[in-house]
Amino acid sequence: MSATKNKRNIELYKGVDFRRELTFREKKVAEIKREKMKILADVKPVPKYMITVDLSHARGNLDALRMCLSELEWKQYPFGRKDQHCDIHWQCQNFEQNPDLYGGKVNKFPGISCICSKNNLFRVLDQMRALYPDDYDFYPRTWYLPEQLQQLAHDIRKMNEKRVKPRPTFIVKPDTGSQGEGIYLIRDVQDYLVNNGRANVCQEYLSDVFLIDKFKFDLRVYAVLKSVDPLELYICKEGLARFSTVPYESPTSRNIHETFMHLTNYSLNKKSTSFNRSDRDDEGSKRTLTSVFSRMQRHGYNTDKIWKRIEHIIVKTMIAIIPDMKIEMLAALPPNKPGPTCFQILGFDILLLHNLKPILLEINSSPSLRIDSEVEVAPGVVDYVPSPKDEEVKIPLIRDTLLLVAPKKKVNYLESQKRRRARRERRRQKRDEDDRKRKEEEASRPPVQHERDGVIHVETQHPRSSIVIIKSQEDDDPPKKLNRESSFLLPSVHNVFTNRNENDYFNKDQNQNSLKNDEMDSLTFGYGERTDFIDRIEDDENVTVERLTRENLIDHENSHTKEMYSKSNIGNKTSTGNQYDQDIDNTGNEINNDMRYSDNKDSDYMIGQGDGCHNDRGTEESSNSEEEIDSEPYVSCLKELYPDPLAKKFEHLRIYEKLAEVFMVSLGVRATQRLGPTGFRTFSRKCRLNKKGITNATIDILFIDMQRKWEHVNPERTTGKPGLGFRGFLDACHEIARRKFANGNMLQTMEDFIDYCLDNLHEDQLFQARCNPRLLPRRARPHGYPILEPMVSPTSPMILEENIGVLLESRLAGRNYSKPTSAEDVDQFLRRHGQLRALKTTVKRVKSRNKKKEKDE
Ligand code: ADP
Repeated sequence: MSATKNKRNIELYKGVDFRRELTFREKKVAEIKREKMKILADVKPVPKYMITVDLSHARGNLDALRMCLSELEWKQYPFGRKDQHCDIHWQCQNFEQNPDLYGGKVNKFPGISCICSKNNLFRVLDQMRALYPDDYDFYPRTWYLPEQLQQLAHDIRKMNEKRVKPRPTFIVKPDTGSQGEGIYLIRDVQDYLVNNGRANVCQEYLSDVFLIDKFKFDLRVYAVLKSVDPLELYICKEGLARFSTVPYESPTSRNIHETFMHLTNYSLNKKSTSFNRSDRDDEGSKRTLTSVFSRMQRHGYNTDKIWKRIEHIIVKTMIAIIPDMKIEMLAALPPNKPGPTCFQILGFDILLLHNLKPILLEINSSPSLRIDSEVEVAPGVVDYVPSPKDEEVKIPLIRDTLLLVAPKKKVNYLESQKRRRARRERRRQKRDEDDRKRKEEEASRPPVQHERDGVIHVETQHPRSSIVIIKSQEDDDPPKKLNRESSFLLPSVHNVFTNRNENDYFNKDQNQNSLKNDEMDSLTFGYGERTDFIDRIEDDENVTVERLTRENLIDHENSHTKEMYSKSNIGNKTSTGNQYDQDIDNTGNEINNDMRYSDNKDSDYMIGQGDGCHNDRGTEESSNSEEEIDSEPYVSCLKELYPDPLAKKFEHLRIYEKLAEVFMVSLGVRATQRLGPTGFRTFSRKCRLNKKGITNATIDILFIDMQRKWEHVNPERTTGKPGLGFRGFLDACHEIARRKFANGNMLQTMEDFIDYCLDNLHEDQLFQARCNPRLLPRRARPHGYPILEPMVSPTSPMILEENIGVLLESRLAGRNYSKPTSAEDVDQFLRRHGQLRALKTTVKRVKSRNKKKEKDE
């Protein structure tokens, strides 16, 4: 048996090249080792307050991000982080690219690329324009092809009949195209190329545009959407201007095909031979927005007004697409599923008309964040070189976006750490500078020596030297330890103004307590730091140390100098005296400091600091003054647009969000974005549309009609997806409102319809749960809605309406509770006082009581 096995093994090994096998194994081992190291690097504990960023899907944004992250000193994970989520996940493509995220923040909202596609965006804006024609007049008239080809043909014919001047031109753009791909101009419907059913939008071509140096340009304005619910929106103060590369002329049949004249895309124009790569502010085919605006200002244009209009365009556009985003969020991140929170940088393309009116061309959901540009170094060979203008705009944009969305606590902590480090560094530099200056000063001033009766007295100019007087015990017989040098000192008093450390005195290698031969005259006691040294000298039997305060030092010195110089004939007596005075004056304060700090318990710490000047208090003082410098607020390139300051101005435009809530309730608890026939019936039943004379049969027919209509709206996106999307549902609502709530004005009609639906829906449990799941007992919460994440924030006006108001009134009646005033208070109140079950019974009671009252009356 074993023999056959051996034989089989031999057979097996026959064909194996063992050398190859070995190298293969080595490679495998090395790979495993590398993998291990990577895991270890991942597992390495990260400080609690470190902000972590996952860059594994960042691709084209990587360079810019890395620059920002190293500047911020946050931790980056180029390969992602195993088993743990990061604080921020940066993805180059869309949300769906990384579906396994369960925490942190991600830089993409689900479904936003679809929402911002040209076809969808302009349909959404059209629905808003139907209600608010004056507010939504900032984009060109749009036809959706091939669906509206007939309509387009009809409109062109009419314009031609009217002989509109200049002759109208149209621009056709593929729905999913970008970077100018597949765009062309037409003047007649026959020029339209039917691309195998591919969806296109066709827009009126705006020929009367504002030119700079005869070139057409468009503006790329960046906005940061921080949150959808509640809506939080920021605008970047800096942007880009992209110029065409052929001087502009109004479209004619001759120049209609000139891409470099009519299209301003960077990706197209960079291929032009006349593309200007100048890095100067006021030149080049790509410039910063501020440089363009300042040039316009110089020519007398009011750019503030243009900017304000651009801000309004951004807010209004976001208000239009927010309902769709909420629905996408519900499908991708249902409340019972853990998931990340989202934010996103959006690029708005704006064209300036000749009258300076800004026009929205499109929203780019993944604007390029590259900071390099392609250069053709040889024919057919391209290289990437850094692009300073892109860096100038995109680095602050990314950095401030990261700062905006990162956990606040961590950001604050890291910033304070950084400030502290910078302060320390500044202080160190200042100290070094001072030391250098002092040394230079000392070096340039030679020590003054006086010699009389064989005694040499050396004055030093050390600004911080304190003065210690060492007295010999026996005047006639100088102490042994001060043997040879004592002849250089006064018999009883030795002034020492020196600059050496204690070891010079306590020369441990030789006789203890003996001064080095050549350093007798160079001992210094820096105030506040050498007290232990002086103490040790005092312990020496043969030496007496006298500590002098500033006053008695002056007295002593004066008397001593007088005594000394009265004996001498040296002429510069007064000047020397002055020098002393000055020295003392300079150091006087420090001597006082010495007295103060010698008692300080932390004197050891201060000795360790080395420089008497930088004591604890000094640190505090300097840090205070530096704190003032530091406390200059950091100026972000992002400016808040919503809620502050534009919420009040545009809140009334958020009408479709209410219908989005109705739509979400009708969807049920499934994670879907489309409404089936049953869902549509449920909507009709819950909103009690039958009371308005709408039968189930009407509802079914309407559903089928709308489904058919919207199926053909965008064949690329809707084929194979049954049901009605939100925009189809909105269309159906318009139809119902038109039939049953007609009120002359379309806006009024729609408002009446929405109010009616909401009134009836307030009774519905699921609706209430969607408004605020906390208001329901746990059993009744659909699919365990998390308590802390209500679908609609408690401040939503819906919660505050009617039912809660009535309930609170009734609950509070006759009790001593103070009536809650704000939305948060209401929420807190409900949580504290018995929650909704009790509330619901009260609602019923109040309602029946009201009815009774009405009857009685
Ligand atoms: P893409 O997403 O492919 O870049 P855009 O909508 O941004 O498509 O259009 C590309 C360029 O075409 C714009 O930069 C602009 O110069 C020009 N353009 C687009 N629409 C119009 C228009 N309605 N009128 C005039 N020029 C337009």
